[in-house]
Amino acid sequence: MTEKAHFETLAIQATEPKDDGTGAVANAIHPSTTFRREADGSFASGFIYSRKHNPNRQLLESAMAQIEGGSRAFAFASGMAAINTVLQSLQSGDHVIVPDDAYYELRRTMGELFINWGLSHDQVDMTDLAAVKAALRPNTRLVWIESPSNPLLKVTDIQAVADLAHGHDALCVVDNTWCTPLLQRPLELGADAVMYSTTKYFGGHSDSLSGALVVGANTPEDFVARLANIQNLSGAVPSAFDSWLITRGIKTLKLRLEQQVRNAQQLATFLAAHPAVKQVHFPDLPSHPQHALAQRQMPAGCGAMLSVQLGQGQTEALALISRMHCFTPATSLGGVESLVEHRRSVEGPASTTPADLIRISVGIEHIDDLIADWQQALG
Ligand SMILES: *Cc1c(COP(=O)(O)O)cnc(C)c1O
Repeated sequence: MTEKAHFETLAIQATEPKDDGTGAVANAIHPSTTFRREADGSFASGFIYSRKHNPNRQLLESAMAQIEGGSRAFAFASGMAAINTVLQSLQSGDHVIVPDDAYYELRRTMGELFINWGLSHDQVDMTDLAAVKAALRPNTRLVWIESPSNPLLKVTDIQAVADLAHGHDALCVVDNTWCTPLLQRPLELGADAVMYSTTKYFGGHSDSLSGALVVGANTPEDFVARLANIQNLSGAVPSAFDSWLITRGIKTLKLRLEQQVRNAQQLATFLAAHPAVKQVHFPDLPSHPQHALAQRQMPAGCGAMLSVQLGQGQTEALALISRMHCFTPATSLGGVESLVEHRRSVEGPASTTPADLIRISVGIEHIDDLIADWQQALG
């Protein structure tokens, strides 16, 4: 690997097939769960059993580590499996700080599953560094960052929070799903690990459920060893086919995401100026409360996710969504097709998301068509 290679080149080279004697330019898929053992009991290929290693997963993990500038990556069957692996690496009695605005099921797994593991947690507004500092306890072992956050697009100063965590002997892990290494590089800002739902931008076509963790040269070795062990023992690994799909997705990630970011910037500007829209949450807009930090931390753009508040209720928000043609009403994000979602009705009664909020995942369609759709739906 050449560390100085441009992202586009690295994304192609890191995902190329290993020489298997066929000359194939595209990767083969290896569904085999088990691998031949030699007469002396050894495994010449290095592969034993696909929960431990699989050729497709190994290529994906190596490519993910390279494009992140990390030292090692672990692929999982979903983003949630990656999140759960980090939490399982902690011990009973440990305390975790999570953002007050974050992926809904992160908060659910903390409150419903890891409470039984003996983990306690606090939800903190991470745009307020004093609040993070005040929430740190002697037993705090993990500070979880999601930036920009879901669904309010709050931006956290990753370097400052990682420094606070390390000052308390706690790990700092960043959910970078909405950015990818193209837009935000948490390992360079001091994070110990980067987490992805590769279901989203890496896959990019809404057809593969998967996740990943990437660690760097400065990540504590005992933490890395625990992640590797849990990946194998918990067994929530991606299939060969899913690994193959995400590996293929990496090749076109930059092309897709750049178009999505451009579209999102133009759509956000249009929506911010529309009289029927009360508020647009998008860090690229100068009106965003952490705009300066966002520009520094995400110099190539703040992603292609935004949310709008219409200033009315749930009924009006759902009615507007039903008038849309270019935007499919569906959960998830990061695919080539634009999606809209009323988060509160998906999250259920415990949701803290405003009732008038609509979350938008911007795809790669022509921007004029996306804007025209919002224009007609807003009336
Ligand atoms: C989708 C998502 C997850 C969960 O990933 P799955 O692949 O659905 O398990 C976690 N964090 C963020 C920010 C997400 O968007």
